Amino acid sequence: LYDVKDLHKDFRLAGGVVKVLCGLNFTVQRGQWTALVGPSGSGKTTLLHLLGGLDRPTSGAVMLEGVDLATLSARRLTALRRRRIGFVFQAYHLFPELSAWENAALPALHWGEARDDAFAKARQWLERFGLGERLEHRPQELSGGEQQRVAIARALINDPDVILADEPTGNLDAAAAADIMAILAELRATGNKTLVMVTHDQALAARADAVVSLMKQ
Ligand code: ATP
Repeated sequence: LYDVKDLHKDFRLAGGVVKVLCGLNFTVQRGQWTALVGPSGSGKTTLLHLLGGLDRPTSGAVMLEGVDLATLSARRLTALRRRRIGFVFQAYHLFPELSAWENAALPALHWGEARDDAFAKARQWLERFGLGERLEHRPQELSGGEQQRVAIARALINDPDVILADEPTGNLDAAAAADIMAILAELRATGNKTLVMVTHDQALAARADAVVSLMKQ
């Protein structure tokens, strides 16, 4: 699915250049779970942004089904992100003034889906994740694990085939983290979703199909 070729990423700052990724090569097969591991500052989040087309490489390429993401127009890239890629972050990033239901439905509304359909889909996902009684709750009225389940529902609403997750269990206690991992594992098994996940948890990484280890430059 992904072919990452000789990927380099530098950040140019007033004080000089920070080299983050230096010649990274790997592939991700469809339906596979890839764990991204490495010390703090080694570029895991940077790499996830490049895989999602949120940022551009300094050199090298991120190919998605043979297409170099850097060659896509901003419009096509936005469409690809909305349709094919679901993002899940450590800090959930839900809109505080919107309900769980509205947060989950938002990407479908952005995609142009009819309101009733978007809300029906959001409800289905939230019910599947055990949040049927929490539809009208705002993020601050939900636990961390519940907020992350809303964020996963939001990531799935447009039925993406790729899920990019940045330490999705990083803010959760062991029980809530296990719930989130069970959801992700089930999605992989039943939905043929490709999962690329940053994790600091060695035990989790050991369960992945492939591990990409980054080193601090
Ligand atoms: P952590 O495990 O702590 O989240 P990480 O492996 O995800 O770290 P990144 O967040 O990708 O690391 O950051 C890698 C390096 O790139 C860091 O040194 C960071 O300061 C630098 N960096 C990231 N984004 C930018 C940016 N927009 N401008 C300048 N430097 C940046």
